[in-house]
Amino acid sequence: MQHDNLSKKSTAPSHLSGKTSLYHAHYRVRHQGSDKVVWLEDSGKVIEWGDRQQPLRMIGTRRDISEQKRQEDELQLAASLFNNSPDGVFVLDSHQGFRTCNRVFSQIFGLQKSQLLGLPLFQVVRTEQGQRIAQSMQNNGRWQGDIVALKRGHERFPLSLTLTAIRDKDQRISHYLGICRDLSELKQHRIQLDYLSQHDALTGLFNRNYFHQLLSQFDQHDPLLPNQYAVAIFNLDNFRTINDRLGQDIGDQLLKDVAVRLNNLNDPVRQVARLGADEFALLIDYEGDETALIDVLNLSLEEINRPSLIDDHELVITASCGVTIVHQDNRSQLLNQANTALLSARKRGGNTYIIYRQTLTSKPGLRERLLKDLPQAVREGQFRLVYQPKLNLISQMMDSAEALLRWKHPTEGEIDPEDFMPLVEETGLMLALGDQVLLQVCEDVTRWKAGGLGDIRVAVNISPQQFYQADLIERIQSALSHTNCAAAQLELEVTEGTLMADLANAQGTLNRLGDLGVHRSLDDYGTGYSSLGYLKRFPLDSIKIDRSFLRESPKGEPNPVIEAIVAMASSLKMKVVAEGVETQSQLKYLKRLGCGHAQGYLISRPLLAEDLALWLRHSQSRLYVDVAQQIH
Ligand code: C2E
Ligand code: MG
Ligand code: MG
Repeated sequence: MQHDNLSKKSTAPSHLSGKTSLYHAHYRVRHQGSDKVVWLEDSGKVIEWGDRQQPLRMIGTRRDISEQKRQEDELQLAASLFNNSPDGVFVLDSHQGFRTCNRVFSQIFGLQKSQLLGLPLFQVVRTEQGQRIAQSMQNNGRWQGDIVALKRGHERFPLSLTLTAIRDKDQRISHYLGICRDLSELKQHRIQLDYLSQHDALTGLFNRNYFHQLLSQFDQHDPLLPNQYAVAIFNLDNFRTINDRLGQDIGDQLLKDVAVRLNNLNDPVRQVARLGADEFALLIDYEGDETALIDVLNLSLEEINRPSLIDDHELVITASCGVTIVHQDNRSQLLNQANTALLSARKRGGNTYIIYRQTLTSKPGLRERLLKDLPQAVREGQFRLVYQPKLNLISQMMDSAEALLRWKHPTEGEIDPEDFMPLVEETGLMLALGDQVLLQVCEDVTRWKAGGLGDIRVAVNISPQQFYQADLIERIQSALSHTNCAAAQLELEVTEGTLMADLANAQGTLNRLGDLGVHRSLDDYGTGYSSLGYLKRFPLDSIKIDRSFLRESPKGEPNPVIEAIVAMASSLKMKVVAEGVETQSQLKYLKRLGCGHAQGYLISRPLLAEDLALWLRHSQSRLYVDVAQQIH
């Protein structure tokens, strides 16, 4: 055995000097060759002394006190925990009267330990739930929960309380151990944390985090139900320009203004949140009422559009909005779908909303399959062109047409351009496909002319990627000369979104196209920016009124937007084409207004090139005379 000299406590020196009759020593020893440490206690006395008072014989006992030592250490630890615990700790006797408590408990209740002794628990911890807790303690030997307690007789405060019964060997309750914590500060802190985690610091609106939580209720079926709501995302158009030009403080102020306006919207707007930088979201009660939904979307756009006066700057901003209606099967896709619609709204040039349409590409896996198949489809020419005639309302002749792409997928069948065009753009195949379209159109035009069908002008839709390619003019020139097609028989349709993406560049390109003799047309007008100021700056030959306006006037009811566009185009010396003409009354109305051209299913659906040739031959002599007669 080895002595561990560091750990010994002994009264042997006092005993040997005759000061005590016995000696005691506590010390640790380690067994040789082992790590085991044993605590020993020696007690004894000298029973025979020598002449010079030196001990000659001693008797005594030696005990292994390791277990006792362990218990002592534990008690010490418990006492230290008891005293230093950040929680209030107390011990009750079996009748739930106070035996002891620590300092924190005294502080919580503002009472000295001595004042507490013997008092029943619920005389100190006063709460309306006392009886219930006592009952539960009786039944279960344990209770845990948050209660409202009284401090100093009148002050109500939240308290977290845990009570545990301690039993003796015979399983009888000997004591209760109580632990409690004053939650006043914590609650306050938590409320603050909750607030911060759910709110946007700049505007005070709910934040993205909260909005996500709100939408996740659709997945949990409670309490929000599908088919009753719509989700709308608003993104401010050109907000960055304001930030860059006037500084972030003004930008922030504008965001706050927008937030207040959206937040002031009443029914059917349920919740308003700021999702990020210049993006806001609304949860709207829908209940199948599309008119009410459209009204609130228009109102929101108008509110955003109201001028803001900030530091002497009068700022006018518009927004793009994407909306999706919550269905049973799109609950996990809501923000994605609203974002897709938002993107379309931005492409239209902003200041408009688009409601997400459940498209082919939203079928699971189809989008990916189509993306994969696209390169081959372009290579193998799976795309065809159809032509939709436009009727000249002055001459009553069919003098122009629009080329529209169709994709007949080998296994999926016909796919709409609105479904596949975004994929073509995404895969970067737009330029290749665009060249094919251009060349095909020029070829068809030349063939028709050679076949005696006259100088029909055909419009080609030009995507933003195509419009901004550096050699657009050269490509057009090359297609024209390659096919021997006259520039005057080619028309290019671009949307406002395309032009607004890069104003200066767009102006230059339009000018060069004009120099070339190509007809320049603004597609889908009225849904996007519709800014008269910008319109004046763009050298354009025609404006096409978006078909959504005629949809609002199925019987040719007067429509102020259509009338304003016709009047404006006339003052800018531009031609006007009305899209989506489906009824005779609409046609009559347009004619009365002095609108130049009409295009739509009433006149003709898009036709294959050979059918158009046939149709053209007949329309000159027959079909259009019919229509012409009806509109007079
Ligand atoms: P868009 O240029 O506005 O084309 C007119 C769309 O309206 C066509 O749809 C046409 O079929 C449809 N339409 C015509 N008359 C009526 C009518 O009376 N009622 C209704 N409800 N709809 C009518 P489509 O062919 O599905 O094309 C959709 C869009 O796809 C086009 O809109 C255009 O933006 C794009 N697109 C089509 N072909 C091409 C192309 O070759 N190149 C590019 N870049 N885009 C294309
Ligand atoms: Mg078009
Ligand atoms: Mg159009």
